[in-house]
Amino acid sequence: PIDFEDPAEDAVFGASQVEHFSWKGILDFSTCTECGRCQSQCPAWNTGKPLSPKLLIMSLREHAFAKAPYLLAGGGKDMEGSEQATSEQLAGVPAAALAEAERPLVGTAEEGGVIDPDVLWSCTTCGACVEQCPVDIEHIDHIVDMRRYQVMIESSFPTEAGTMLKNLENKGNPWGMATKARLDWVKELKKETGIEVPVIGQDIDPAEVEYLYWVGCAGALEDRAKKTTKAFAELLHTAGVKFAILGKEESCTGDSARRLGNEFLFQMLGAQNVETLNAALEDAPLKRIVATCPHCFNTIANEYPQLGGHFEVIHHTQLLQHLIDEGKLVPVNPVEGLITYHDPCYLGRHNKVYSPPREIMDKVPGLRQQEMHRHKERGFCCGAGGARMWMEERIGKRINTERVDEALSLNPDIVSTACPFCLVMLSDSVNGKKNEGAAKEHLKVVDVAQLLLDSVKAQPTEPEPAEV
Ligand code: SF4
Ligand code: SF4
Repeated sequence: PIDFEDPAEDAVFGASQVEHFSWKGILDFSTCTECGRCQSQCPAWNTGKPLSPKLLIMSLREHAFAKAPYLLAGGGKDMEGSEQATSEQLAGVPAAALAEAERPLVGTAEEGGVIDPDVLWSCTTCGACVEQCPVDIEHIDHIVDMRRYQVMIESSFPTEAGTMLKNLENKGNPWGMATKARLDWVKELKKETGIEVPVIGQDIDPAEVEYLYWVGCAGALEDRAKKTTKAFAELLHTAGVKFAILGKEESCTGDSARRLGNEFLFQMLGAQNVETLNAALEDAPLKRIVATCPHCFNTIANEYPQLGGHFEVIHHTQLLQHLIDEGKLVPVNPVEGLITYHDPCYLGRHNKVYSPPREIMDKVPGLRQQEMHRHKERGFCCGAGGARMWMEERIGKRINTERVDEALSLNPDIVSTACPFCLVMLSDSVNGKKNEGAAKEHLKVVDVAQLLLDSVKAQPTEPEPAEV
């Protein structure tokens, strides 16, 4: 990571020139075989957005090659945009290469830009392109490099995302809600079930904690996601797992900030969370964290090590599957119907967790599973990743609608998932379809944890028929 407190002289904040990409970037631009496999899987391209990962890579290659004579002659601009090469050095450079060097890396067609802003901001960072590419091109890294410069140096990004960034800075969550609201679900759960969820270090000794439950902003603050949070806590309680939460000490992991390109904000939130987690788990025998949000799971497991946070992190579906296997959770009540599961990109493709959610559903009596055409490695994004959750979707068909249309083609009774953001995107679209009369009224969108709870929980007993 960049040391923002004392950046190196030559620290580069993202990519504003093609030569700012790493050697791997330049190699990627050169090795694309133009097979188009990335483009055929891209949710942006498939819904009429201008982003094609293949065309993006090809545009960067053409630009790099056309600019090469200028760069090889020693050409290059400093951060203020001043030319570093002498006129003698540039004397023999062809005019076309000099003209190419003047093109902004990100800019509209009128500005002569290499990559259009609408292309740059359409990416959901779903990873379908990276997964498909036969020569291991890492499109997302290059897209985020360009976003980083746009956000941190140019302050140029879709305005709606600015509200989310401001809320993260001021309140530590993307909705700008009060910190104390993070404990509302705990009070609700106590009222609904009598279960008390302890805050680590306050209500429970860290030495007794088996798992620290990282609730996440959506899990704590968004109404639909809160149902998953409460269901998961109830399941842990039923299974006798000793768990605790951070409560008001938790704040956003910074996933959306990083995907948007605000590396500074990501590192600020990340450093604060790592400090909180290290302190909370200092006396815990096992530094184990369980998360219901795949974005939190991915960030804490794969990105916090860069900031000094080393924890064992699992997703709630992995823990639930384990508890079923151990016989601590026994699904008995049938949940009747045809179900199709939507793979969250940050759980599936980014972390290769495909089977636990499916195995949980397998154990629930009554459920019949059917896969959508695009599933597992080829799963299709819900449209929320890459901070797209916080931006308007003005071009083409909505990605969540495309995904729900695919689900509806199976005529399911339940669409399940394992991510609070997928849950919101899919249920928004399903509700729209219901209003149009295009989806059956009883169609539900639920997290796998809710399904499992319905099957595990003792059903209220039928009252005995009164004797006549
Ligand atoms: S990460 Fe997803 S949305 Fe972005 S370019 Fe690749 S396939 Fe398209
Ligand atoms: S999948 Fe890889 S090689 Fe094929 S077009 Fe896309 S970037 Fe190029």
